[in-house]
Amino acid sequence: MPILLPELPYVKDSLAPHISAKILEFHYGKHHTAYVEKLNGLINNTELANDGLETIVKKTAKDVSKSAIFNNAAQAWNHSFYWQSMKKNGGGIPKGAIANKIKADFGSFDKFTEEFKNAALTQFGSGWAWLVIKDGKLAVMKTLNADTPIAHGLTPLLTVDVWEHAYYLDYQNRRADYLDAFVKYLINWDFVESNIGNK
Ligand code: MN
Repeated sequence: MPILLPELPYVKDSLAPHISAKILEFHYGKHHTAYVEKLNGLINNTELANDGLETIVKKTAKDVSKSAIFNNAAQAWNHSFYWQSMKKNGGGIPKGAIANKIKADFGSFDKFTEEFKNAALTQFGSGWAWLVIKDGKLAVMKTLNADTPIAHGLTPLLTVDVWEHAYYLDYQNRRADYLDAFVKYLINWDFVESNIGNK
């Protein structure tokens, strides 16, 4: 059973002007698609051929001989999670249970956004910033290249892609402006809350 490329959860111009349709055409249509296609080529006729994506990520995370499989599988997983982390007219201050949990674990919403944006801004080179549950509490972390919290036994709630391909066509080198727009206009707090609900 090949790993499938999931549909984008919105049409490609939904996130404009914060993320253009042009970016999604390349980022989803070329980058994410390529990770899935490469992964399927690599697992074909191996003992991983019938595993689900999350299982493949976890099984290959600590095996350097399978780093190509891990990189493509983790990138496939991370991108699906990233698309769901955004929505049209998202962002801003959340309400309800997630708002209370942010206040309890970070002190305030502003403190959370400061930590989250700082993690994303200081990820040197390519990678991701995350809101996760760690030891029962919300925490911010960043990962390099394809690395992902699910490889470390953590529960991700939200992610932002800070590979240049995620923002360069719209923002060039201005990663901070992309992050501002992500927090103000794009975060899908319903998705974040649903990920807490699963645990
Ligand atoms: Mn990406």
